[in-house]
Amino acid sequence: MSQSLMPAEPAPIPLFDLKRQERRLRPELDRAIAAVLDHGQFILGPEVTALENALAAFSGVRHCIAVSSGRDALLMALMALGVGPGDAVFVPAFTFSATAAAVMAAGARPIFVDVLLDSANMDPEDLERAIADTEGLAGATPKAIIPVDLFGLPADYAAIGAIAAEHGLAVLADAAQSFGGAVGNARVGAFGAISAISFYPTKPLGGYGDGGAVMTDDDALADAVRQIRTHGRAGDGDVAMRIGLTGRLDTIQAAILNVKLAGFAEELARRGEVAALYDALLPASIARPVVPAGVRSAYALYTVRVPARDAVRASLAAADIGTGLFYRVPLHRHPAFEPLVPPHRSFPIADFLSDTVLSLPMGPDVTDAEVERVARALAAAVGQPLAA
Ligand SMILES: *Cc1c(COP(=O)(O)O)cnc(C)c1O
Repeated sequence: MSQSLMPAEPAPIPLFDLKRQERRLRPELDRAIAAVLDHGQFILGPEVTALENALAAFSGVRHCIAVSSGRDALLMALMALGVGPGDAVFVPAFTFSATAAAVMAAGARPIFVDVLLDSANMDPEDLERAIADTEGLAGATPKAIIPVDLFGLPADYAAIGAIAAEHGLAVLADAAQSFGGAVGNARVGAFGAISAISFYPTKPLGGYGDGGAVMTDDDALADAVRQIRTHGRAGDGDVAMRIGLTGRLDTIQAAILNVKLAGFAEELARRGEVAALYDALLPASIARPVVPAGVRSAYALYTVRVPARDAVRASLAAADIGTGLFYRVPLHRHPAFEPLVPPHRSFPIADFLSDTVLSLPMGPDVTDAEVERVARALAAAVGQPLAA
């Protein structure tokens, strides 16, 4: 048999494929990067201001401050809120470790809250239990709540906001995964007192390096974050008004993000189509992401729940299909945080999700044929027919 008649090996389908987007945008990216090399304002150049204005307009907020990473966005927001040693901050037990690490970097104590099965976001009822539980804890004054918009789906800000108001707590949205998401007409970036966004390369709006943003409608919080991101200095001053960080977004990253933001709405729409196709095809028994009516997920990830997850994952890997485990270990079981967890608190949903979640290939450049191949491989792995 001649070489050309051999059946072609299907191409691998990675969890994330950033290469296709780069090929689409390459000429514009080259021009944008060259412009920064030409003008030479590598720190807080005009591209940073342009990006901040465009992001604030996109989300409908007064202030956007471009910063060095999503984790630094969380830390700077906490510092601006005045959270520090002796304070307690409520975070979901099921999220990326940076959510809790930022709290500890601010000198405060993370208090874990279980999540909801359907959304994998903070459970408002367990939040109330955690707040009540913390009342007797020495050296941990409740100060703030950090709901996380996991996988791109906005948390229940209405319920959490009401609890926050009742207890006098600030809400800091960890929107690292959800830029582009919405609840009704309100966009991610506009929830809570202040929001933290990440531009890590695989996030919905990703740069080619680390980056993030803080968004808020509050003028005083915005001023504080602007000071903190530049060594605690005010305006062009050379005097530290407070402790700050080297917390700026590089101009080159801003130039890249400006190019990507131009096509972002279209990419979000395509992520939604990819999710809808998975929804339609996957075997009926597989638990899909649940997006409440009127809510839009940015679909940073398309995460299902399957029993015997590790075996299913291995059989997808054998079919050259990349998957991810977000997250394999809930935060209350990380060595960095475990010693802080009161022994009488438990997080059964976070534990269950850690054992069953599986994130499938997702992105604006995933094709319908690829979704079908993933769905077929998943159906074969669980021994059930496709739904459609
Ligand atoms: C990615 C992420 C962060 C941290 O963002 P970086 O830009 O990587 O520092 C924080 N929280 C959540 C939920 C994330 O997914």
